[in-house]
Amino acid sequence: MLFYELGDIVTLKKGHPCGENKWEITRKGTDIKLRCLGCDRVVWMSRMDFEKRVRKIQEGEKFISIVHHHKPTEDE
Ligand SMILES: [Zn+2]
Repeated sequence: MLFYELGDIVTLKKGHPCGENKWEITRKGTDIKLRCLGCDRVVWMSRMDFEKRVRKIQEGEKFISIVHHHKPTEDE
């Protein structure tokens, strides 16, 4: 299961037509709401669609594959 939270920045399989491919997750649920960081346009997609299209997620300064992104352990 993929791990991501509100406010996370992700990249998708295909970028936005504006040329940007960084998206902020602004709503989570059955549908996911993403804001394009290039042009501020908002898109909705089903969670299933999102999980098929998402590729990377920002962790600190860099982007890593979302399959390697996990919830931080709580006893750290
Ligand atoms: Zn855009």
